[in-house]
Amino acid sequence: MEMGPAGGTHTFDVLVVGAGIIGLTIARHFLLRSRLSVAVVDAAVPCSGSTGAGMGLLWMAHKTPGTAVWDLALRSQKLWQSLADNLQNKGSLVIGSTEAELEQLKRQVERLTAAGLRAEYLSAEDLALQEPGLRVGRESGALFLSDDCQLDARHTVAFLEQGNRLFALQGRYAEFYHDPAVSLIRSNENGAVEGIKTKKNTLCGRKAVIIATGCWTGTLMQDLLCESDIRLNIPVQPRKGCLIVLENFNSLRLNHGLMEAGYINHQNYVISEHEEVDREEALSISMTAITDAFGNLVLGSSRQFAGFNTGLDMQIVNRIWERARKFFPALKEISLESLNEKMNVRIGLRPYMPDGKPVIGPVPGMPNLFLAAGHEGEGLSMALGTAELVVDMIMGNPLQVDPKHFAIEGPVPGMLNLFLAAAHEGEGLSIALGTAELVVDMILGNPLKVDPKHFAVAGRCC
Ligand SMILES: Cc1cc2nc3c(=O)[nH]c(=O)nc-3n(C[C@H](O)[C@H](O)[C@H](O)COP(=O)(O)OP(=O)(O)OC[C@H]3O[C@@H](n4cnc5c(N)ncnc54)[C@H](O)[C@@H]3O)c2cc1C
Repeated sequence: MEMGPAGGTHTFDVLVVGAGIIGLTIARHFLLRSRLSVAVVDAAVPCSGSTGAGMGLLWMAHKTPGTAVWDLALRSQKLWQSLADNLQNKGSLVIGSTEAELEQLKRQVERLTAAGLRAEYLSAEDLALQEPGLRVGRESGALFLSDDCQLDARHTVAFLEQGNRLFALQGRYAEFYHDPAVSLIRSNENGAVEGIKTKKNTLCGRKAVIIATGCWTGTLMQDLLCESDIRLNIPVQPRKGCLIVLENFNSLRLNHGLMEAGYINHQNYVISEHEEVDREEALSISMTAITDAFGNLVLGSSRQFAGFNTGLDMQIVNRIWERARKFFPALKEISLESLNEKMNVRIGLRPYMPDGKPVIGPVPGMPNLFLAAGHEGEGLSMALGTAELVVDMIMGNPLQVDPKHFAIEGPVPGMLNLFLAAAHEGEGLSIALGTAELVVDMILGNPLKVDPKHFAVAGRCC
């Protein structure tokens, strides 16, 4: 369904670029919590990005209390409860089989309990009672978090779109799909962002423009800023992931969501921003498994740095299948080939950030341009908290989560020919000549007599 008027210039209060789970929930939050009008723009359609491949785990079990990501995910989980019809409250099981993993899980139970969650450590016998289809050794154990839940990403996206579209009747909502954003519209007077040009339309955003384009955010921002003097590097990278979906699978029904403990280390694999990635080393396969709301068995998952390629790689599919068979005897008798008709493979590009945190907030130097991207394997889980944070920042509401951990950093603002020399308090006369010399030397590229870094603007004014 195409809702945006075709071609021409259109004005809204807020423009959201990207119709994945992050963009759609931001639009929803504006529609429900403000009177502003919102347009959502996407290069394709919702679910064509990472969101369409998401397994749907909204879990706290594998997150670390006290971190920024924890706060955002916990807030999101609370907000997801208001959409309970979309959720399956199945609980999560993180399974360990080595001594080191069991120690790690026991410590995590303690941390989660101290953070106020109902976490339990299960012995191999207790685990077998909870999940009879699973077969692990007698030395195994699991972390069990009964309040963790899951959703079906595609179903939830359809629900969100339906809800957003109700506001179209009041002239407060429009969608521009198959219409990529290509450039920013900026004021001639002060450089403020006033909207975007898409391939087919000119869209004005009176209050804010929000870029929520997942793993494409880094390249898109470079394109959008290429004619400006702002230098911004968002080091988000595509991290390919693959899931096997076995439709209406009766041979194995799971009571909970399952994950092997190794997943946690795989997810947190860190590459430095400038590092050449060793693709084989950075490839990981770890078992995750759920029975979804439609009776499908969903098996995951892989993590791979393979650029923006979303092609099907049967070697990876086979490795996911082999990994799952180690945990579930019911799969041992079945060959993947025999399931051909009933098998789908979902592939998506997680938006990976080297520091493990999404970027959420205004672009320094461009106060009405916001980013909300880089949620890697946690975008579904953190979506509603992200949406609330973005909307509260733009509306000037009190914030539920501290935004500083997600703030956009870098050598911005890069307005290379605009300088500040101000705020000398009661010392202006005494340090005037040194200030004057410093400013002139910086502009003329002369050797500096005083180290300027203590007086730099970046990071102090935003
Ligand atoms: C296999 C797999 C399993 C996962 N499992 C889970 C899970 O269990 N739980 C969880 O929380 N998360 C999970 N994730 C991660 C989750 O799917 C992502 O974090 C989340 O979907 C990111 O959402 P997004 O809206 O930022 O990006 P996307 O969904 O990728 O959306 C970005 C959108 O931007 C659009 N776009 C790109 N360029 C432009 C442009 N120039 N103009 C306009 N639009 C543009 C794209 O078309 C796309 O629709 C999983 C991911 C994968 C791949």
